[in-house]
Amino acid sequence: MIQRQDCQQRDASDPLRSLRDLFSIPEGVIYLDGNSLGAMPRSAAARAAQVVCEEWGQGLIRSWNSAGWFQLPQRLGNQIAPLIGAGPDQVVVTDSTSINLYKVLSAAIAMHRADAPQRRIIASERSNFPTDLYIAEGLCREHGFTLLLLEPEEIAGALNSELAILLLTHVNYRTGAMHDMAAVSAAAQAAGACVVWDLAHSAGAVTLDLLGCGADFAIGCGYKYLNGGPGAPAFVWVHPRHAERFQQPLSGWWGHAAPFAFTPDYQPGPGIQRYLCGTQPVVSLALLECGLDTLHAAQTLGGMAAVRAKSLALSDLFITLVEQRCAGLGLSLVTPRDHARRGSQVSLTHQAGLAAPGGSSGYAIVQALIARGVIGDFRAGDGAQQQDILRFGFAPLYIGFEDVWIAVEQLRALLQSGDWQAAEFRQQQAVT
Ligand SMILES: *Cc1c(COP(=O)(O)O)cnc(C)c1O
Repeated sequence: MIQRQDCQQRDASDPLRSLRDLFSIPEGVIYLDGNSLGAMPRSAAARAAQVVCEEWGQGLIRSWNSAGWFQLPQRLGNQIAPLIGAGPDQVVVTDSTSINLYKVLSAAIAMHRADAPQRRIIASERSNFPTDLYIAEGLCREHGFTLLLLEPEEIAGALNSELAILLLTHVNYRTGAMHDMAAVSAAAQAAGACVVWDLAHSAGAVTLDLLGCGADFAIGCGYKYLNGGPGAPAFVWVHPRHAERFQQPLSGWWGHAAPFAFTPDYQPGPGIQRYLCGTQPVVSLALLECGLDTLHAAQTLGGMAAVRAKSLALSDLFITLVEQRCAGLGLSLVTPRDHARRGSQVSLTHQAGLAAPGGSSGYAIVQALIARGVIGDFRAGDGAQQQDILRFGFAPLYIGFEDVWIAVEQLRALLQSGDWQAAEFRQQQAVT
């Protein structure tokens, strides 16, 4: 049996332990929701004040040049590139994940209309994050394509001569299950399709090798494991073999070859620059840079390999402790145990037999845990194939092994006591 002292010892010998000091986390809070909104880097408040008071307040419009505002999308893109296995000048930070998906899917559709017009299917997973499916659905309507929704085990069978695009989120937001990016990319491409990867739940938490996998397009989120702050801009990568070939549909002036020539016609800029649209939120970009700094601080401590190793060690510990200490309390594991198939979160379900009258037991348990200082979140099932899920994200930069111990102890205590059944924990709020 694992004891609390074992967890303390693991913290003491953790090579990434010092990174925790780069974050400001409220006293008494164990934050297991960095997969949804990363914690705040300590440097963020001062940086925001500097951008607002000095760069904007004093520098005014001069700061587009003097403070480097204009180059931020490319500069931050180059900071993300090594985290995702992309090369220099292949990534830009801009817009939101949803909007970037619209751009890359449009480019991929244009590619098939030119090269293989008989291919008119976009396939994805039924349990993909809904915005990805909604954006794909809208584009299918616009272009006369069909959106095919699959269970993970059906993907291999759908790689045929009608498939244009395979759109997958690398780590599933509900289950935490991770695809084999290299194998799936190769299989899709061998069947003549291209593959778009959403890295929202991967970037900053798992090792990635986009170029090595030969992927076609990728997008990802700035406010999850990249710690960029609420609504932080997202990123987009296009394999260099496609980047010059296609225009994205939001052909705004920031993607123009010469934005300040102010010509009336559109000429796309070189490579990834054409994936920019218009003026970017400078304050948010500056805060994302603080988040990226926390990941770059891990570089000298073993880099993404060490980050990934710690992530797996934390989620392994959580699974083991839940099984040892919460046995018989109605929880079961949804996330794959196999390291090669697990992202950086662990999802549990709570058995329906213990459902609270008038609401999901999972929702109430998560609310009760939050009241005890352990922040995870809840994702409702669809009442059919999908179960209600309690999600626990393990951001390896700021979560420690003793935190995992305390989180499981709180979970055990509230399940044993039945505290979670109080009416206050069933009040549904807008954001779960
Ligand atoms: C978080 C997440 C998004 C978020 O999209 P926004 O445009 O930032 O709202 C999109 N896709 C996936 C898979 C996500 O996990």
